[in-house]
Amino acid sequence: MAYKITSQCIACNLCRSVCPTGAIKVAEDGQHWIDSELCTNCVGSVYTVAQCKSGCPTCDGCVKVPSDYWEGWFANYNRVIAKLTKKQDYWERWFNCYSQKFSEQLQKHQGEILGV
Ligand code: SF4
Ligand code: SF4
Repeated sequence: MAYKITSQCIACNLCRSVCPTGAIKVAEDGQHWIDSELCTNCVGSVYTVAQCKSGCPTCDGCVKVPSDYWEGWFANYNRVIAKLTKKQDYWERWFNCYSQKFSEQLQKHQGEILGV
């Protein structure tokens, strides 16, 4: 998770209305928090910046948390792979294309060796 809600939050609920994934929750005591399972850091949505932080009326009610590089890398990787695996024929087309290109390169290389 790259964003968290701090004790500076004034519970205006603005972030809840703009979060594209419904990741911002309210505890029984009224404390706002971000569900890391739902938060996508706004990546892949129509937004280019994190809506919770950019719309927050306080200075630091919602802040970016420094995250581990590889954690972010794998999060993006998994998100992209999840999109690809939803397309049933993706890997089949990828394999066909790869095989065709490989075959072309092989024939070209063999032709160069044989002087054809
Ligand atoms: S970064 Fe985006 S997805 Fe995550 S909690 Fe904030 S508004 Fe929601
Ligand atoms: S927008 Fe900021 S102040 Fe308002 S509820 Fe969200 S974190 Fe709290």
